[in-house]
Amino acid sequence: MRSTRQEIALVDEVSAANYKPLPVVLSHGEGIWVTDLEGKRYIDMLASYSSLNHGHRHPKIIKALKDQADRITITSRAFHNDQMGECLQKLCAVSGFKKSLPMNTGAEAVETAVKAARKWAYLKKGLLDGEIICCSDNFHGRTVTIISFSSEPQYREGFGPFTPGFKLAKYGDIKSMEALVTDKTIAVMLEPIQGEAGVIVPPAGYLKAVRELCDKYKILMILDEIQTGFGRTGKMFAFEHEGIRPDVLVVGKALGGGVYPVSAMLSDEDVMDVFRPGDHGSTFGGNPLGAAVASRALDVFAEENLVEKSRELGEYFMGLLRTIKSPAIKEIRGKGLMIGLEIKPEYGVARPYCEKLMEAGLLCKETHAQTIRFTPPLVITKDEIDWAFEKIRKVIEG
Ligand SMILES: *Cc1c(COP(=O)(O)O)cnc(C)c1O
Repeated sequence: MRSTRQEIALVDEVSAANYKPLPVVLSHGEGIWVTDLEGKRYIDMLASYSSLNHGHRHPKIIKALKDQADRITITSRAFHNDQMGECLQKLCAVSGFKKSLPMNTGAEAVETAVKAARKWAYLKKGLLDGEIICCSDNFHGRTVTIISFSSEPQYREGFGPFTPGFKLAKYGDIKSMEALVTDKTIAVMLEPIQGEAGVIVPPAGYLKAVRELCDKYKILMILDEIQTGFGRTGKMFAFEHEGIRPDVLVVGKALGGGVYPVSAMLSDEDVMDVFRPGDHGSTFGGNPLGAAVASRALDVFAEENLVEKSRELGEYFMGLLRTIKSPAIKEIRGKGLMIGLEIKPEYGVARPYCEKLMEAGLLCKETHAQTIRFTPPLVITKDEIDWAFEKIRKVIEG
């Protein structure tokens, strides 16, 4: 077996350098805990950017994976399989939409939403050059089309030419969005809380105002809940906080139960029926292995009350964090178990804090230099939050 140092050296040698991970090599995971090659245990406070809302290797989901692996795993969409229908039925039931189109990764589901909006505008309004309004500091994935509307210079530098047809409004500012609407506007697309931007929570009423704007101009509201969905913010979906519904919902990450990539675009017939056979597809999308896993993952939210737990424990955790006495803290913000702690620039960047938290047994990741993100699996307990909080307090108070 390789040591941590050897494993990292091997990855440096044979892998692209497109990530800069913390220097820890994980070999096992269970619930909220992960273990490194030296046998040291950590709480996983990142949960793979909210892919692990059920925790690592949830026993019910692993059983579904194994049972399905013993039957049939991949069929392609050239044939039907006996798992996809029930999975999508459950997904529609929890989200309140009539139809769902299954993909694999988040970026593919976002691309699907962009294609759906364009085709919708073409069929319903005869528009061939429609525009979609996105928001500053968005994160929707890494394909060429998606980085075409990123406001992060590094995500774009050297990767042009870009896909046209997108405009950027200031996130959280409804006036700046309305100012961009023209006859060509077909949709707006945004995150209800921006995760990668550093857990940015827009002003109360913002999503409702976006909904009203979309109704006024008869354009589609597309919400990317890949990170905020499935209980992360204390509701099943973050749009429920403002009592609204988007026209198109994009989900991924935790839908795969922490074991398999499963994503989807959801809408009612008006939008989904723009797709005809051959218009769009994915070899692996809706495969029976992924469908069986996602189906069980959806059951577990209700069976284990994970959404309500996220709301209660999120409030509790945020309350504890607010008692930390340190001049280094600029702001603590979030909803449910999606919490960001921003460090003032004069106290340096967040990375060294994450390194110290790692030594103390907590795996966290900085986002946008200054913010430490706390997004543990929703199966975390109050006692475990207390344990984690003591470590966080010591590291931040220094
Ligand atoms: C992670 C993420 C994506 C991209 O998902 P991938 O599975 O990495 O392609 C898109 N949107 C949001 C909000 C995300 O957090």
